[in-house]
Amino acid sequence: MRRLAVLGRPIAFSRSPAMQNAALAALGMEDEWRYEAIDLSPEHFEERVRAMPEDGFVGANVTVPHKGAAMAVADELSAVAREIGAANTLIFESGEIRADNTDAGGFLDALPSRPDGKRALVLGSGGAGRAVVWALLREGADVDVWNRTELRSRNLCSELGGRPISEVQTGDYELIVNTTAVGLGGEDPFAELPLDPEALGERQTVVDLVYGGGPSRLLEVAADRGAATVDGIDVLVGQGARSFEIWTGVEPPRDVMREAAAADR
Ligand code: NAP
Repeated sequence: MRRLAVLGRPIAFSRSPAMQNAALAALGMEDEWRYEAIDLSPEHFEERVRAMPEDGFVGANVTVPHKGAAMAVADELSAVAREIGAANTLIFESGEIRADNTDAGGFLDALPSRPDGKRALVLGSGGAGRAVVWALLREGADVDVWNRTELRSRNLCSELGGRPISEVQTGDYELIVNTTAVGLGGEDPFAELPLDPEALGERQTVVDLVYGGGPSRLLEVAADRGAATVDGIDVLVGQGARSFEIWTGVEPPRDVMREAAAADR
């Protein structure tokens, strides 16, 4: 059995096992491959990861709070992971640990149109924020970054580019991306984030990386006001499909993955 996993804490909410195992089954690979969820504390991360190849693991996805630790444990970093400064995909090969980042590409896959030349606002400056800012800048978008803790957005922009801002004019942007954890615990996005719901409208695309039981309140309000919306599930599918291909060499069926990821929402 070739094993794959997602490592995180908490991890019970993750849709990755359902999504990845559905892709393996659709390709007739389920007798040879299995994808599981592993709950792991930061103290045990390195020891557990180093033992994984001996236990039959070929690779792993890494999520909160381990994306920085995934970089540190790796013998080799992809150029994308190095530039972003965070990794979400580990590959165990020939006794070495490689780290890659598929969050950036997965985010771009989920957008309805190319972001080049667009005015974009990124909310958040954690691991997901870094991947989104890097992806948007590489595609030629004009990027402003807001974060609750301003020092982090300033640091992010001095490393990657983009403009750190403290005041937000919601109507100024063609693309708005929430990469904060706001909404995960049912928080009101319009109380926690500097967005004016009245200023959302038809010429905008709103992306919410947070995914849970159905469209988030941010996306519901944005859609009501005529904006195009992109659900966090679509970003999850994009990053997961890219990781799947790195590990197996096979392109997975994204429609099957999306259906499995969104089931029982
Ligand atoms: P992280 O590194 O822990 O960063 C968390 C971010 O959320 C920080 O910018 C933090 O701001 C902000 N934040 C937390 N609570 C807040 C609040 N009440 N008000 C304002 N800002 C708040 O986490 P991450 O890896 O970037 O992930 C962030 C979210 O994206 C998570 O919900 C994760 O599940 C989701 N995500 C989804 C996908 C996908 O495929 N759909 C991929 C990656 C991540 P401070 O700096 O001020 O603390």
